Amino acid sequence: MIYQNVKRVLHELPGDVELEGAAKTRSPEEILEAVEAGLNIIGENYVGEAEECFAVIGKKAKWHMIGHLQSRKVKKAVKIFDMIETVDSVKLASAIDRACSEIGKVMPVLIEINSAEEEQKAGVMPSDTVSLIKEISVLKNINILGLMTMGRYEDDPENMRPYFRKTKKIFDDIRAMNIPGVTMKYLSMGMSDSYKVAIEEGANIVRIGTMLFGERTI
Ligand SMILES: *Cc1c(COP(=O)(O)O)cnc(C)c1O
Repeated sequence: MIYQNVKRVLHELPGDVELEGAAKTRSPEEILEAVEAGLNIIGENYVGEAEECFAVIGKKAKWHMIGHLQSRKVKKAVKIFDMIETVDSVKLASAIDRACSEIGKVMPVLIEINSAEEEQKAGVMPSDTVSLIKEISVLKNINILGLMTMGRYEDDPENMRPYFRKTKKIFDDIRAMNIPGVTMKYLSMGMSDSYKVAIEEGANIVRIGTMLFGERTI
């Protein structure tokens, strides 16, 4: 089923939109089936799970971190991941920068936007985004390539549109600023329920789990 699901979604997506398989709780075998169907990007929420899956799958696909990254996991994370989509503080960016300089790597990152402006949620508040990006942009071993957002979950994906639209506006505003070291190339938003709305609002990476791998049982 996973194989067919990936084929179907890849076929359905517009050519300029990349499919990222949100793989939390999935086994390396399940992920490998998706990769064999043409999935190019695997999104992982936990460094430990990513390590286990990477040991089996390796460089057959790109690995993106899409969960909150704890400082003490940064050293391990920079070895595996090709992109970290959840940078939301100077502290985390600096830790990534340091760990990357030790292994001679420049890490592509997305800045996570707390587009629904929920107190307890990850991501930088929209109004703080520009100053955060300016501070992070000077770090030598980090390359800012765009934005990521979750938005607040709504049963009707139409109600998530405002969060996606707000994030696209920030994306366009930052692109127009031409900040040195910042390239606004990727906009990662939308999940199984909401990816169509997200694409209409400008997403070019969609993070899809359930629709590819089935319902999560844990
Ligand atoms: C789980 C997850 C997704 C995908 O969610 P589905 O509803 O299963 O498609 C996307 N993004 C992040 C950050 C996730 O943790």
